[in-house]
Amino acid sequence: MSRHVFTLLILLVFASSGRSQDKNIFIKAGKLYDSKNSELLENKIIQIQGSKISSIREDEPLPENSQVIDLSEYTVLPGFIDAHTHVLFSQEANEDFAEHSVHSLTMESDGLRVLRGAKRARSYLDVGITSIKDIGNSGLYLDVALRDAINEGTTEGPRIFASGPILAADGGQIYGLLPEHQDIIDLEYRIIKSPEDAKNAVREHVNQNVDLIKICADNIPNKTYLTVDEIKSIVQTAHSYGLKVTTHCVTNQSAWNAIEGGVDGIEHGFNLADSTLVRMAEEQVFLVPTENSRSYMETYAKLAGYQNNEMGWIDGYMNRLQNRLSRAMDKGVQIVAGSDNYTDINVSRGESSKDMFRYYFEAGMKPLDILQSSTYFSAYQLNREDKIGYLTVGAYADIIAVKGDIEDDFLSALQNIVFVMKDGKIYTNKAD
Ligand SMILES: [Zn+2]
Repeated sequence: MSRHVFTLLILLVFASSGRSQDKNIFIKAGKLYDSKNSELLENKIIQIQGSKISSIREDEPLPENSQVIDLSEYTVLPGFIDAHTHVLFSQEANEDFAEHSVHSLTMESDGLRVLRGAKRARSYLDVGITSIKDIGNSGLYLDVALRDAINEGTTEGPRIFASGPILAADGGQIYGLLPEHQDIIDLEYRIIKSPEDAKNAVREHVNQNVDLIKICADNIPNKTYLTVDEIKSIVQTAHSYGLKVTTHCVTNQSAWNAIEGGVDGIEHGFNLADSTLVRMAEEQVFLVPTENSRSYMETYAKLAGYQNNEMGWIDGYMNRLQNRLSRAMDKGVQIVAGSDNYTDINVSRGESSKDMFRYYFEAGMKPLDILQSSTYFSAYQLNREDKIGYLTVGAYADIIAVKGDIEDDFLSALQNIVFVMKDGKIYTNKAD
């Protein structure tokens, strides 16, 4: 036996014995949310070995000296997923998006931007969000860098599924920039010039190890939009690499174009017509409604400088978007929970993002439907439902627990996150 092979064998022996010595942790769950079937099960025991779930069984006596985390008074759930974040971007309520973007791209170094993003990302763990889809406005792959830093343990944070720069038509979302400064946009967006260029753009992203592709079907208030042929080209190339494509859509027309182009999901969709929603349901295109609760909107409006007698528009905003959400649900469109909160409202980013639960609840979604939107459906739309968003054997041990009745007292229960584990590591344990 050559020394080489011998060394390899020794390494294998150590590696396998290391695995078998991974500590077993048993979580006693009073209630356990089965996100696939969207039902609450009673009295289960989750066994965790290392970073993964190794069994889920009925409550039964455990081997002596087992490490047990007793959550029998609580409801245990898969860690939540926020499907629409921008952790590398933050603006004040009274700031203009385009002006702030230019300021950030020209005066905030990548180093500073990533460190600030890392702090925002960390705050998601505090509120039970253990995975995020970070979809753009993150410079040149700084989202990928932050994801890798978290995965290797350099910094703490949720699992990040990173899109890299958003693929968009000329100008991207940075409106009003003079022709001689358009190159600034290339620091934040990948501008698509043709269907052929669209393929290159996806390949560049694949080469940088993105997890999904984000496009802007329209660039409102910039007037440019991607053509159906460009979107088709993006989607076909992305799908050939196993990547999903989701798209920012403000107008109904751009959503229609995007569906025609074969996208997997639509973000925002503020102006979706019934006919578009029907088509989404038929073609199983998911919707990420990124609105906010009334209390968030009032806070936001005050910070943006509106006086108390100037808040009337909030009613119209709420009514229009709640109407759109209920029409989407009626038509059978799959709803995936996402916050899109990037404005600083003087709370942590994670806390701010949690407002999506309040909004969906106020808009009439049922608690268990909201939970499924922010767990199983979200994971499913990343092809990761066997790994996250669902507590099943082989999945990552991304597990949270809440105090209180999650069905009858939904919002208070979500304010009472007593336990957060990611990858088998405990971040919060306030269970008594
Ligand atoms: Zn967004």
